[in-house]
Amino acid sequence: MLRVIVLGAAAGGGLPQWNCGCNVCRAARQQPELQGSQASIAVSVDDTNWFLVNAAPDLRQQLNVTPQLHPGPGHLRHTPIAGVILTNGEVDAVAGLLSMREGSPFTLYAHQRVLAILKANSIFNVLSETNVRREAIAIDRNFEPTLPDGSPSGIDVLPFAVPGKSAWYLEGEQHPAGAADDDGDTLGLRIEDKASGQHFFFIAACARVTPELKRRLQGAPLVLFDGTVWQDNELIDAGLGVKTGQRMGHLSMSGHDGALAMLADAGIARKYFLHINNSNPAWLPESRQREELEKAGWKMPHDGLEISL
Ligand SMILES: [Zn+2]
Repeated sequence: MLRVIVLGAAAGGGLPQWNCGCNVCRAARQQPELQGSQASIAVSVDDTNWFLVNAAPDLRQQLNVTPQLHPGPGHLRHTPIAGVILTNGEVDAVAGLLSMREGSPFTLYAHQRVLAILKANSIFNVLSETNVRREAIAIDRNFEPTLPDGSPSGIDVLPFAVPGKSAWYLEGEQHPAGAADDDGDTLGLRIEDKASGQHFFFIAACARVTPELKRRLQGAPLVLFDGTVWQDNELIDAGLGVKTGQRMGHLSMSGHDGALAMLADAGIARKYFLHINNSNPAWLPESRQREELEKAGWKMPHDGLEISL
């Protein structure tokens, strides 16, 4: 059985964000059940070995509250985490790696553009390459992550390119991978349990739903999809920032080219948003935006949510 645990559902900064006094962050400080850590999921097909998709800055706390990811009994040093798959090089996807530096072996899977970012930042050398093998993954090429003993995991992963942007902190900088072509900086993943054929899609960053992407998602059993903003200009309208969702490489939930409209007739069985910014009013259970989203068949996951396929 394919199991997914949503370790965190929020976008960069989390909910509440440390320095934010917006409506949603204030509500989350009053009502801790609204709080959300930064987006990451864990996936397993055997309930024993787990793979993380992205390593959020909140990873340490996420692991603490997730018994499936604790060291197994009878081990002095152990982790059920066999590997981490990165879909981009943003801070909220890679900073958690720094909390995984205590010598347990695992494999890090990422596009060579993201591996180049890690390589160029020597702080990531705390993950010694003897213990933490770095393996390049390629667009449109399936791979099967391996377990620590080298045996196959039974999971098939297909990375594909989605419209997006390079990490913010690289804006105006030479990308460590060199070339200007930014394919590979934002990946979606199709993850399948090879035994059962059950699968789902993980797309935490996406600037628009192209016809190709819609075709790919048609009839999917489960999709976890970029829910950064409700509307493109919400950070500007709320006085929180100067960037639109598009400028950050994220489409909005609402609007004629937003996720609700674009995927309305894609026949997706279960639709969850992920990577939801704290400015997004859909976080609030009583909001009209939440109502609209649920009417369209979407759900907002809470931290720790388990989904089985
Ligand atoms: Zn806020």
